[in-house]
This record gives sequence, structure tokens and C-alpha cells, in this order.
Amino acid sequence: MRSSFVVVFAAAVLLSGCQAPGPQVDPQLSVNTLHEEPLGFLESRVNSAEYPIPPYAKFLAGVRICLDPGHGGDAHKRGYKRGPTGVREAEVNLRVARYLRAFLTTAGAEVLLTREADVDLPLKDRAETANNWDADIFISLHHNAIDNKPHVNYTTVWYHADVDFRPSNLDLSRHLCQGLYDALALPQITDVPLKSDQLMYESGFGVLRHAQVTAALTETSFFTNPDEEQRLRDPEYNLLEAYGLFLGLARYAAGGLPRAHLLGISEGNVLAFELDDGLRSRKAWGHERQMILSDSIAVRIDGIDAPYIFENEGYLLSVPLPIGLEPGEHPVEVQFQNMYKHSVLNPHFAIEITQ
Ligand SMILES: [Zn+2]
Repeated sequence: MRSSFVVVFAAAVLLSGCQAPGPQVDPQLSVNTLHEEPLGFLESRVNSAEYPIPPYAKFLAGVRICLDPGHGGDAHKRGYKRGPTGVREAEVNLRVARYLRAFLTTAGAEVLLTREADVDLPLKDRAETANNWDADIFISLHHNAIDNKPHVNYTTVWYHADVDFRPSNLDLSRHLCQGLYDALALPQITDVPLKSDQLMYESGFGVLRHAQVTAALTETSFFTNPDEEQRLRDPEYNLLEAYGLFLGLARYAAGGLPRAHLLGISEGNVLAFELDDGLRSRKAWGHERQMILSDSIAVRIDGIDAPYIFENEGYLLSVPLPIGLEPGEHPVEVQFQNMYKHSVLNPHFAIEITQ
């Protein structure tokens, strides 16, 4: 009697082991915490009636965008970057990056991801990926967390250092933030959502500090908010977020991505730049007119404002070198804004003075 009871009990355990989801995996150590995406998910949605590629997204063609899905390879750290029921930020970040890539490449942008798998990368390497690829834009994609305030859920977008460091970082941040606002329509906002990374660390975020291109870090929403955590499991919601980021980038590109090109140093020690407002080359009606705000032009050599001459016709900027410049390398910064108030993507140059 006794022995048959033991047998029945063992069979019952075996049976339940087959049916129930395993011998209780600790959700704070689990992997694959997101709902699986249906077959053909992206193909059926990107450029559908629900997620159209707007005509102005054509200006993304050829723009090089490096996407950095934050974190990865951290599932073994119990509770690390996870929501209350175990959703892992690293997985959400990677999925949103993949979905965003699908929209961007459909519009003709070139896209590189810093990671494609659940692996960790040093922060510096993530930025170097963008730098070495000569990216125009670098975005580190994240979701936020806060201790003991589960009700909190809003969007922030982070730029490096202070507002003058690389003003194009603010253009990018602003457009990404607006895109997320429009797509997700989170009821909460923080009154000034663009934040300096120096609010968190004196030297800023490593991933932004090492970026030598226009860069921002998005904290789209809080996975510590129980409702938001459940939404973040859902591929449809991840796609909506990616679409918001995509529209932000499309609007940014549509307003022109200004650049400065160093032509060289002419006889008489005049530094020459060609300015590109990101608009004139479209040859639209009125393209000969100046689309750079004159008062926005600034040149700094060794951090000191330098006089310059700007000619609208050829968009040439001539900068006489200061007398007595020591031999060696000197940093030169060229700033300007186009008529959309977009600042030059990469304002930092270096010149070598030889004796
Ligand atoms: Zn993060």
C-alpha cells in the first residue's frame, strides 16, 4: 500500500514537470523575457498603412546611423536591469534597435548595430564602433529604472556635457524625444526631457563621452513601472517605439544635416572651409538663397573665437590664422545653423602647424 502510493506520487510529479513551465525558474534570472514576435512580423508592418514611411523620410537616404542597444550578457546577474516580473532591459533595447533598423533601411539609411546578440560590450567600444564607421549619428538605446517609485514612467533623452559641446547633439535629442512623445503618448512627462549626462556622472556617460559624432542616449520609458514593463514585452509596443524614433530621425534629416568640410590652408595662412547646410544640394526653388543663419557662424581656434569671412555664393568660410600660432596640432571648431536651426554635425577639426 505504502509503496504504490510512492509510485503514484512520483508519476504525478513527473507529469506536472512536463506540463508546467519547469522547476520554477527564478524570473529575475530568466532569459528571453519578451513575448515572441509572430512570423513575418516586420515584413507585414514596416511601410504598412499602420506604420507608413512618410515621403520626407527620403532624406534619410545615405545617412549613416549607428544604433547601440544598451547592456547585454547580463542575465546571470540576478535582478540586474529588470522589471518587477523579470523583463530585461538589454532584450528590449536590442529588439527596438532591430525594429528601428528595419524602418531606417527601408527609407535608405545605412545602419550599423553595436551588438546583434545578448553580449556585453565595453562602453568605449560601442562609441568606437560609430567613430570608426564614420557614422553621422550615434544613438544608444535604453529604458529607465528608478527605485521605490513604481508609478514613474516618462521619456528622457541625454546629451553629453554642456549644451555648447556639440549643439547637433541637442538637435538629435530633440527630434528623438518628440518622435517618442508622438508614438507612445505616455501620459507623464518631465518638464525638460533633454538632460545632460553630467547630471549623473561628472564625466558624463562613457558611451556618449567617447562618441566623436552627433550622439544621444534615449531612456524611452521606465521598466520599473509594472504596466510599462508588461507593454515592453510586447513586439507591437516595441515596434511603436521604434517607429517614433524613426519618425524623429526622418524629421531631423528632412530639416537638413549641416556639415563643414576643411578644404585646407591657402598661401597667406588662410584656413578654408566649405559649408554644407544640408539643404542647398536638393536644388529646390530658392536654393541659391542663403540658408545658413549668419549670426550662428562661429569659428574657434584653440578655443578662442577667430574672425572669418563667409561668402554665400560658394558657401566658403575663410579664416585667417592668428599670427604666432605655435607649431603643432591645434583644435578648430566650426559652428553654424541652417534655416531649420540644425547645427553642424561634426564641428571639431584639427590643424597641424609646421615651422
Ligand atoms: Zn540602460
